Amino acid sequence: MTEFRADLRDIRFAIFEHIGTSALTSSGRFDGQSDEEYEMILREADKLCREVLNPLNASGDEEGCTFKDGQVTAPRGFKAAYKQFAEGGWIGMSMPAEHDGMGLPHVVGIAATELFTAANPAFMMAPGLTVAAARMMAAVGTPDLHQRYLPHMVNGKWAGTMCLTEPGAGSALGDIRSMATPLGDGQYKVKGTKIFISFGHHDLTENIVHLVLARTPGAPPGTKGLSLFVVPLHRVDDDGNCLEFNDVRCAGIEEKMGIHGSPTCQMVFGDDDDCIGTIVGKEGDGLRHMFHMMNEARVAVGVQGSATANLAYLTALAYAKERVQGSSVKQFKNPDAPRVTIIEHPNVRQMLMETRALAEGTRGLVFRAAWYGDMAEIATDDKDKAKYHGLEEILTPIVKAYCSEAGFRATDVAMQIHGGYGYIREYGVEQFMRDVKIASIYEGTNSIQAIDLLARKVARAGGRDFMAVLGEIDRFTKAHAEHPTLGKAVANLVAARNALAEATMGLGKYSFAGDLEYPIMQAKPYLTMFGHTLVGWTLLDQAALAYDKAQAIRAEAPNATPADHSELRFYEDKGHTARWFAAQVLPSVRGIGKAIGSEDRSALDASF
Ligand SMILES: Cc1cc2nc3c(=O)[nH]c(=O)nc-3n(C[C@H](O)[C@H](O)[C@H](O)COP(=O)(O)OP(=O)(O)OC[C@H]3O[C@@H](n4cnc5c(N)ncnc54)[C@H](O)[C@@H]3O)c2cc1C
Repeated sequence: MTEFRADLRDIRFAIFEHIGTSALTSSGRFDGQSDEEYEMILREADKLCREVLNPLNASGDEEGCTFKDGQVTAPRGFKAAYKQFAEGGWIGMSMPAEHDGMGLPHVVGIAATELFTAANPAFMMAPGLTVAAARMMAAVGTPDLHQRYLPHMVNGKWAGTMCLTEPGAGSALGDIRSMATPLGDGQYKVKGTKIFISFGHHDLTENIVHLVLARTPGAPPGTKGLSLFVVPLHRVDDDGNCLEFNDVRCAGIEEKMGIHGSPTCQMVFGDDDDCIGTIVGKEGDGLRHMFHMMNEARVAVGVQGSATANLAYLTALAYAKERVQGSSVKQFKNPDAPRVTIIEHPNVRQMLMETRALAEGTRGLVFRAAWYGDMAEIATDDKDKAKYHGLEEILTPIVKAYCSEAGFRATDVAMQIHGGYGYIREYGVEQFMRDVKIASIYEGTNSIQAIDLLARKVARAGGRDFMAVLGEIDRFTKAHAEHPTLGKAVANLVAARNALAEATMGLGKYSFAGDLEYPIMQAKPYLTMFGHTLVGWTLLDQAALAYDKAQAIRAEAPNATPADHSELRFYEDKGHTARWFAAQVLPSVRGIGKAIGSEDRSALDASF
């Protein structure tokens, strides 16, 4: 079993010192809550990871799920862990108290989710999808749906799923063919096949509540014709008792590369023409409502990326400090030079810095996006609400795509740091890599996120949200242009920001001229340059704060050094990480901008 590692110090810094929760705890919405309570919750989450979730990670991977006679069995220990997870109230962390949740801010829930996901990403698919389904139903469902389903999903008696994908409809949800025929009173007969449904069937809970996108008779083609249905595995009465089977069958589970503890199911609805679903909202509103769930799930996938990046970094760091190999390059002429641990080698330090920057930078970015969501929720002023909502929305595809790729990249570098020991199973890094790869594919592939970013989020409302992001970056760069230790790095951020603005204008011109192919082709590199810029800003913003804190420590303890003062070391390392990213990664933003502006159409013109 590999050791679970988590940097609670950096998590605390990112939430309580950098982002800050005072605007939240002083609002009526989170009345009575405090940072002390949040810290205690995070420590409890860490304990659950160490004692329950992480010990099942490698065994769940090795054992996988089994499918027999239509039934799916999760790996050993998952059922008991789900019960314990639910009893701790963790499923409903960020559900409001009126729906039996803990009522925590999203940003605190996301921090705990990061820990849980690092500990056992396959397991976390079950509660993650359940709460995303429950939150969507809480937001748009009727009081009857609330009362009938939510308490049992939040308390862990029932689980939830998200059923979109069909054999002919993956990225193109408008091609969904499942049908729902009205029976009256909001009830529909549902018929169709869904594939790749995570935890579509399992033995963790007594019932499974599927949220199914389907088409009603006569509905217009494309996504406008989709409606959303709650389809339980077993029908339920008003008191939450499970009644008869609802004609929902699992036809099999997939063999796959990673997240083996999460069954990926083919689901058949209404094979015997006896599957009943309840509509959520109105006919034709399905995709709009499903976006509630998908946006949450997209942020959760970003968390999967940043959680993996953090775990990969800490695992590689521990290995680099213990693995002895070769001697210091400073003594390259001396054959008798003492052997050193590999952390002494400059190339290994460069690789460690990359994983650390990706880990801490994506964590900061994800927390910021979650905090924007909280701020939008508590805002009483319409302008503030729109601003924070817009910022959350524009960041969501970047969080999903950039962080999932950062997670994969961090596992790649961490494996390299381990040498051959990374490629074998012993240290767990190869499992991190296999498990995180899916994050760039599901919940809308990263290409789809990039198109969403460029064609919808950036262009929306005349570029209002894009300009708001630039405004946030500009506020920081103006305030810190002359910073004594970060000034040069801030200049790199300004250059990256300008390249991003230029690329945005440049791509916009193609669309205005009616050429959509070229900007869509460049959407993915565009998302990458946007992500680099945001991570650079996040790391530098953190470093500027950490600089002030380090100065305060030095003023109080003039003889303190990073070697003997852990807080001083922590704060000063923030500066090293931010400067590294600004020097080594931010210049590439201009390079990507140049490629985007090259007008090279080879990929479009080539014959394949
Ligand atoms: C392990 C696992 C778990 C999953 N869990 C769920 C789940 O719980 N619920 C659920 O509904 N689905 C789930 N999925 C399905 C997942 O969301 C889809 O696989 C994903 O959306 C991509 O669809 P696809 O596989 O059909 O690929 P395709 O849509 O065929 O895409 C193939 C390639 O073409 C690109 N592409 C396709 N269309 C476009 C376009 N218009 N513009 C640009 N590029 C395009 C894609 O980016 C991709 O690179 C899961 C999948 C896996 C593997």
